[in-house]
Amino acid sequence: MGAKQGFLEFKRETPVTRDPKERVGDYKEIYEPMSEEALNHQAARCMDCGVPFCHSGCPLGNVIPEFNDAVYEEDWKSAIEILKSTNNFPEFTGRICPAPCEASCVLGINKDPVAIELIEKTIAEKAYELDLIHAKIPEKRTGKRVAVIGSGPAGLAAADQLNQAGHEVTVFEKGSKPGGLLRYGIPDFKLEKWVIDRRLEIMAEEGVIFSCDTEVGFNIKAENILSNYHAVVLATGAAQPRALNIPGNDLKGVHFAMDFLGKQNQVISGELDKNPIDAGGKHVLVIGGGDTGSDCIGTSNRHGAASITQLELLPKPPQKRKNENPWPEWPMTLRTSSSHEEGADRLFSILTKEFVGNEKGEVTGLKLADIEWKAEGGKMYFEEVPGTERTIPCDLAFLAIGYTGPAEDGLLEAFGVKRLENSLPKSKNYKSSAQGVFLAGDMRRGQSLVVWAISEGREAAVAVDEFLMGTSSLPQKDESYFHVVDDLEGVD
Ligand code: FAD
Repeated sequence: MGAKQGFLEFKRETPVTRDPKERVGDYKEIYEPMSEEALNHQAARCMDCGVPFCHSGCPLGNVIPEFNDAVYEEDWKSAIEILKSTNNFPEFTGRICPAPCEASCVLGINKDPVAIELIEKTIAEKAYELDLIHAKIPEKRTGKRVAVIGSGPAGLAAADQLNQAGHEVTVFEKGSKPGGLLRYGIPDFKLEKWVIDRRLEIMAEEGVIFSCDTEVGFNIKAENILSNYHAVVLATGAAQPRALNIPGNDLKGVHFAMDFLGKQNQVISGELDKNPIDAGGKHVLVIGGGDTGSDCIGTSNRHGAASITQLELLPKPPQKRKNENPWPEWPMTLRTSSSHEEGADRLFSILTKEFVGNEKGEVTGLKLADIEWKAEGGKMYFEEVPGTERTIPCDLAFLAIGYTGPAEDGLLEAFGVKRLENSLPKSKNYKSSAQGVFLAGDMRRGQSLVVWAISEGREAAVAVDEFLMGTSSLPQKDESYFHVVDDLEGVD
């Protein structure tokens, strides 16, 4: 490493965010740019630790110390070459990844970890600025046609890899534009959509064909796909939302989070005039403490909600790692997102009992109670705290309690793909139970992260390439090193 003592000299710094009061007036990204000097100091903090746990913390196996060093040396060409050798879309992960790499950075044992995500985003942006990222049209074509169904990060990564391997790739997408949840889920204040468009233009120039407004199984039958393509990658996400089965969940004003968030993104892009769900002036309850819940808070604040309260069943996590959750494990600590900073009450250990409504069938409140978590025989369970039942006002409730698996739309069945009991498809090494049909992303592993979706797309591409050509020279992770359990059982 160029800088031997950077970790002693410089403190961790991340970009300043715009004032919450100002930024809730728009949907633009919240970070201010950072000076090159400050960035250089951050890269200098990477300390040549010898055994870089960040590699295995990252689902993509990003080669982090090497690109940190290239940034320190201001060698942007090498930095982007190293980064893109493992990650097709660093401009996405550099903005929205929860950065498991930072959680396992060796410096993080007793100091703040290296600001790896910031460095990744800067490499990507600098590379675009310096024209180091441009279309690379494959020199040879194999004559094999691959259909990728779904254009989220998993489908896009699979398409990118397979196109570079010389196959003719068509991406089918039921939405009006490609991107999956990057476009119609994650709010613009986390990821502005020009970032996706910029990448899609390059992929199209490289030869990937995008067929949008095409729902496979509806506009085009699975049989047609199977007879016209040599292989299929299903990457349709885990879109089946988990329901909250309590009385009153059918009252007007109780919605799944994605019905609100997806529409808002369409409003921002001009595809829709107005969001049919308006949080302006309303008492909003967000049920579920994860990313989706946090995005509902940010969006409700931008609508001008009267109040926002987020409810979580689990207890409030600690501020710091507990002894039983040591480095380099993912820290189970309290996370405060930029949307939380913009304003919301957060209640933990809450049992939601019943939505109450008026004579018009509209939700007006939520009956809830505090709970106490207990452990017995290694198992956690909760008990309601007597005397804590109460009803709080609610004009609008967003259910953000996760997804149970791939949509129950008959698509897997139409392709002859068998499911496990938990509704995920059976899968082995990204193969499904149907010959020539491969699986990637949230639809294969269950709801997860963009970085995992990209990793899945890349790995599925290797499996497809091997199926088509007998062997593959596409890069592949060494799974014994990454301890990834990929065989979800049941496929020989
Ligand atoms: P998806 O992105 O879900 O894409 C699947 C695509 O398939 C969709 O475009 C869908 O329209 C299409 N499709 C479905 N059926 C068909 C069909 N029959 N025919 C054609 N097309 C079809 N992860 C992070 O890392 N950081 C975050 O900050 C983050 N925030 C999130 C916020 C929200 C609100 C949500 C819901 C998720 C968030 N995630 C985040 C998770 C992340 O977005 C997903 O893990 C990731 O997008 C999964 O990628 P995928 O390609 O597997 O599926």
